[in-house]
Parts: sequence; C-alpha cells; structure tokens
Amino acid sequence: MPTSQDHDLLFKEACYVDGCWTQAISGKRYQVLNPASGEVIAEVPDCGAQDTEQAVLKAHQAFQGWSQTTVKQRSQILRKWFDLIIDHQQAIAELMTKECGKPLAESVGEVNYGASFVEWFSEEAKRAYGDLIPAPFADRKILVQKQPVGVCSAITPWNFPLAMITRKCAPAIAAGCTVVVKPAEATPLTALALAELAEQAGMPSGVFNVVTASQGKEVGEVLSTHPLIRKISFTGSTGVGKLLLKQSADTVKRVSMELGGNAPFIVFDDADMDKAIEGAMASKYRNTGQTCVCANRFIVHEDVYDEFAQRLAERSAAMVVGNGMDDGVQQGPLINQAAVDKVQSLVSDAVEKGAHVLTGGKPHPLGGSFYQPTVLTELNQEMSIAQEEIFGPVCPIFKFSTDQEAIEIANSTPYGLAAYFYSQNIARVWQVATALDYGMIGINEGIISTELAPFGGMKESGMGREGSKYGLDEYLEVKYLCMGGL
Ligand code: ADP
Repeated sequence: MPTSQDHDLLFKEACYVDGCWTQAISGKRYQVLNPASGEVIAEVPDCGAQDTEQAVLKAHQAFQGWSQTTVKQRSQILRKWFDLIIDHQQAIAELMTKECGKPLAESVGEVNYGASFVEWFSEEAKRAYGDLIPAPFADRKILVQKQPVGVCSAITPWNFPLAMITRKCAPAIAAGCTVVVKPAEATPLTALALAELAEQAGMPSGVFNVVTASQGKEVGEVLSTHPLIRKISFTGSTGVGKLLLKQSADTVKRVSMELGGNAPFIVFDDADMDKAIEGAMASKYRNTGQTCVCANRFIVHEDVYDEFAQRLAERSAAMVVGNGMDDGVQQGPLINQAAVDKVQSLVSDAVEKGAHVLTGGKPHPLGGSFYQPTVLTELNQEMSIAQEEIFGPVCPIFKFSTDQEAIEIANSTPYGLAAYFYSQNIARVWQVATALDYGMIGINEGIISTELAPFGGMKESGMGREGSKYGLDEYLEVKYLCMGGL
C-alpha cells in the first residue's frame, strides 16, 4: 500500500519546467475535479502562450546537452524512471482514478502498461543503428547516421493520463530529444507525478517539461507553431488533430497523430462464441468504453446474431458500476456530463430510428456522469451511431450475411485505427485481415495493446506508430553521409 508520504511526494500543483516547479506567469490556476464525486481534488497552473514559449526555450537549451549524451547514459536514466514508476504504482494509480474515474484495478494496469514503454525504450535507445551502404564509386563510402529530431511537443488526452505520455516521451527521450508535454486539462496530476519521478531518476533539467492549462488552444498553438519545435505528437480527437496538422504545416514539423477510431468487431458464424463474448466485453468496456480502440460497432453474422446479442446483454447487465476506488467496481463514471450527453444523444437517435434496447439505454441511477452498460440491436447505417465514435459503454450490434458485406460495413467510416474479428477459418482469417483498412487488427483477441507492437492508425485515424521497434524512428532523422576522395 502507498504511504501518505508517497502521496504527498507525487501530488503536485505546479508545472514542471527546466527542473523547477513553477506557476503560470499570469498567476492563474484552475480546478481539477473527481468525475465520480464532482469534488475539487487539486488546483494547477492555467498556463498560456508565454509560459509555453518559456518551456520550449528551456527544452531547446537542454537539447544541446541531452542530444550529446551516450545511449547508455540515456538508457540508464530511463530504466531508473521505469523502476520508480513501478515502485510508486499504487500511489500513481490512486491519483489517476481520482482524476479520470477509471476503476483502480484498471489504473494499476495502466501504470504498468505506461511504464512498459519507458522500460522498452530504455532498451531500444541502444539500437538506433545506422548503416553502411555499398557505394557505386570506388572512392566513396555511403553512411547513414540517425540523429534526434530536436525539441518535441506532446499533447495528450485524459483517457490514459500516464500511458499516452510515456508512449511519446520515452522514445523521444531515448532518441536524445527533449520534450514539452501538455497533458489533458482533466488529468494533469498523473503527468506531474511522472515529472517528479523523472527528476528523481536523474533526468537533467529541461529534458522533460510539463505545462498544464485549462484549455488546449493557446498552449497547443505554441506547441504546433514554434519554430524550435521539430516534431509534434498528438493523441486526441480527429478535429483537433487536423487543426494541429494545419498549424504545424508552416514550420514543416514532423508529426505523429493518433486520432479517433471507430473499431468494428466482427463475429463470423464459425467463431468460438465463448471467446467472442470474452473479447467483446474486454474490448468494449475497458475504461468504460472510453478508449480509441474500444469496439464501437459489433457486426455479427445473422446465424449467430441472437445468441451473441443475448449473451452480451446478460454480461453487460451484470457489470458493477460505481466509484472506481470501491472494491469490485468494473465500470466507473464517464469523464464529464458532456460525455454522458453525447452518448445519450447517439442512443436516442438510434432508438428513434428503430433500434431495440436489450439492456441499459439511459444514464445510470447513481446520477452524476455514470451511464448504464447498454446493448442495442436492429441497427442500421442511417443511425448516427453507425458513423460516430461512442466513447461510452454502449454496444450497437449490426447484422450481416456475407463476408463481403461485413468488410464493407467495417470499412465504411473515415477511421482506421483498430478492428477485431472472430473466425476459426484460416483462409477467411487471412482474407479479412488483409481487406480491413485498419492499422491494428485483433484476430480472436479483444485486447491487443502492448509496448512490443506498433500502435497507430490508417485513414483519418492518423499517422505514425508508437511503441515497438518502429516507435524510436519517429524521433530520429536519417542523415546520409557521403564520404568521398578515398
Ligand atoms: P477529447 O475529446 O478526448 O478531450 P481533444 O482532442 O479535445 O479530445 O483533447 C485531447 C488533447 O488535445 C487535450 O490535451 C486537449 O487539451 C488538447 N486540445 C484541445 N483543443 C486543442 C487545440 N485547439 N489545440 C491544441 N490542443 C488542443
């Protein structure tokens, strides 16, 4: 169990810039709320453009030294950071549940998942290999050297307050870059706890900086337009991602965008139904349906449709909803009232257009921003829920009869992040996996994220990959050296 000293140490109500705990130049602060109770849990600086410019300058100064460190030095500091995150996992998880509402067991899971990127890139730091390419002339050598891209910015969402930061910052720091992070307004406390542990790990001043703000716009503008920033990495909504792409075009920044999803979850008639139900529950209800890889549309063969819907409804109705800090709770609140309103409007629209509610369908009797786990059948493509990301605990189940139809429905949105399907037929598995326009595919598996595999999307779900051996290259320039006169 974490001690109260642990909590005090990690609980910060200040930004972290150039190794110092700072307040906004304007002196403004904003309140951080617990979505399960509505209570104020902290006040943090409400930074603006000037604060962000300062942080960028400091990160730029720090880059001069950090980019010259050896891979072994960077690796050791990252490894220490990883160890400290794991040592404090319970205290960080409690902070996370308080600010974002997810059940404590899921928060502990996220701390481990988030820390795994720090561990992985502490190892990958040593493998930023260059190349020696056979030259076309006898008197020349062609060499390739990889170098850090420079100062990076990271703008992250509230649904994974720790993992979205480490998935970007660990490879950046491993590559020799320095970073300015703007965490989501709702979840700055986990980010600040990470900064405290970075300091304890011996991360030099200015390498990892955290700027908090009550709104993304002003800070985000600096982070996407400042000429000293060479790379921006964003996870969040497609709308904000497109804006940041436009804003970063003038200074031609490198970009990684992990945007919205609309994951199909296809169940073929030859699926192992027990596994499909387990996978559906795991994929749909993680973080109360608030992840970009959550199953968003169940697409089920007509021969197994009724059985799948019935079993999913029974399991959904049995979910324990409540405050994430309470024992046994499986579903926490949604992040805020606006999220509840959005989910309700999608459900109401579907019901008005003919959907049947098998279970749920309304805000939860607990009140606040709790919503009932919901299963809807008799869906059609005219309903808004067929196109929009739900980000809540709702399972709309569509029906299909041929493989071609299933693939067409699955590919019929502008998104292309994660997709899932269940089938035992190996020929069908290859055909469908190839035909789905998605960056990540779970085949007979509902939970696929790991630091060892490349995470990222196609189409309007974004560009770039995070984690895995591909993740480091996002923060490295490939420099060609032509050595002549030999
Ligand atoms: P969500 O709907 O999941 O909150 P957002 O895309 O709004 O997704 O938020 C993700 C991150 O983007 C947050 O850190 C948020 O503060 C930031 N953000 C929101 N609007 C802007 C903006 N105009 N410019 C830069 N960042 C922004």
